[in-house]
Amino acid sequence: MEKCAGKSVFGGIAIGRILLFKKQEQQVRRQKVDNPELEEKRFEDARQEAMRQLGKLHEKALVNVGESGAEIFEVHQMMLEDDDYIDSVMNIISSQQMNAEYAVAVTSDNFAKMFESMDDDYMRGRAADVRDISNRVINILLGINQEEEDSDEPRIIVADDLAPSETVQFDKSKLLAFVTVHGSTNSHTAILARTMGIPALIGTPLALQDSLNGKLAVVDGDEGVFYIDPDEETLMKMQKKEEATKENQELLLQLKNQKTVTKDGREIMSYANIGNLKDLPLVLQNGGEGIGLFRSEFLYIGKDTFPGEQEQFEVYRTVAENMAGKEVVIRTLDIGADKKADYFELGAEENPAMGMRAIRICLTRPEIFKTQLRAIYRASAFGHISIMYPMITSLEEVAKAKQISSEVRKELTSLGVPIGKVKEGIMIETPAAVMISDLLAKEVDFFSIGTNDLTQYSLAIDRQNQNLDDFYNSHHTAVLRMIYKTVVNAHRAGIWCGICGELGADRSLTELFMAMGVDELSVSPGSILPVRKAICETDLSDPAYRKKILSDWNLEELC
Ligand code: PEP
Ligand code: MG
Repeated sequence: MEKCAGKSVFGGIAIGRILLFKKQEQQVRRQKVDNPELEEKRFEDARQEAMRQLGKLHEKALVNVGESGAEIFEVHQMMLEDDDYIDSVMNIISSQQMNAEYAVAVTSDNFAKMFESMDDDYMRGRAADVRDISNRVINILLGINQEEEDSDEPRIIVADDLAPSETVQFDKSKLLAFVTVHGSTNSHTAILARTMGIPALIGTPLALQDSLNGKLAVVDGDEGVFYIDPDEETLMKMQKKEEATKENQELLLQLKNQKTVTKDGREIMSYANIGNLKDLPLVLQNGGEGIGLFRSEFLYIGKDTFPGEQEQFEVYRTVAENMAGKEVVIRTLDIGADKKADYFELGAEENPAMGMRAIRICLTRPEIFKTQLRAIYRASAFGHISIMYPMITSLEEVAKAKQISSEVRKELTSLGVPIGKVKEGIMIETPAAVMISDLLAKEVDFFSIGTNDLTQYSLAIDRQNQNLDDFYNSHHTAVLRMIYKTVVNAHRAGIWCGICGELGADRSLTELFMAMGVDELSVSPGSILPVRKAICETDLSDPAYRKKILSDWNLEELC
């Protein structure tokens, strides 16, 4: 048994087999070879192995998803038998004396480009298939066991680090836990793990060898320990712990349909954060009363081009319909910093967290912004949708965003498109926004405090930098005072103020947030019920006690 300590970003126990996640780019090297015949044989063997794997996938898909879903694997087999494809690979190996991996990669690229240039939609779609089959052959040549990835069994993902564009590609039903060597507690991988409610460890010092693939392992997200090849005793102990966690979750489920009311009778909006449609069932299972933050940028990342208006509309409409009249706050795209999509062509930046991101992109490229707004407004006829603008620092930005938004509304109305009543709010996640929150509050319908970025910008600490995790103190008096100031200014203007950053789920602060007067807490779906429990246990009926809490946290000056 091997035991490794990591930093936990979400608790719970996961027991299962490891799937080692490797970045795609690192793999193919261009090498001159002395013996091209040997490379030709390596290619032919790999091709045969790929044919075998695809045959297995076809059989499995026939059982799981039926004839039409399984067909693609037959198409892939046919492509791998195509003479032109095989001749091209063999020709590069023999005429240029190159290694097989390189010959397959070049052929893949050439064929994909040729397909992409065709007029016919069906043929253009084959570009992705040719890349797919070629990647399979390359993986085999490199000794990477792709069958592990094809497996239907849920796995513990072990990786060096994961970018948001990589995490969005995972089939979430197959994820048991994340364990990464790098990454920070405030990264979006951590947020994804919390959203899914699965155990996750970062900063776990592991040697990422292929031999890890398929090994039995246990992630103890409560203690921050990763066990590889656990012995009998550890396995039994962890199985018991897993059962106890499940029992606890069942107890919490009794709160699922209960209102979120403090003992002194104040009702709090108990909302959820989501990144895409797949998170929706988790919100409903955990009794979310609304969605306080839909990170819409996840519709943009992990793609080759902008999602169209219709595509976005369908997603927003589905969320609105499924939430059945409960509020859904859609944050307009917060691309930039670590959430990258190459086709935005933002270029390299010295300080991406302080660069061209979020509302700055929307205001400088209104055609992108308008497409998203049109999709949101059209979807608003199907439920209760609100819009939230991220990374606001000035009144001018709010005025411009609202102006563009009103143009979109007018255009749609003149075309006879039905739209609902949509409130417009902003994220308070920069110190500048906090300092002018009295002015901003007069211009919008609500505030939602993004404590992740607010902490980063207030303490001048890059939230992505794992070496700074110990300095990233979200309980810092400066941050807490900013939250309180924002709430007070919101209430003076008669609007509500919530928290949608990760701090909202920190139960050591729930009582304080209630004392500050926070109206809404939007948290990862897995945290809704524990937070609801903490709120329902809070009693602030004695004004002196409320004052004492504020004073204990050094907030008395604002009382
Ligand atoms: C935040 O900054 O607190 C927030 C909720 O936004 P994100 O984490 O997506 O930047
Ligand atoms: Mg933010």
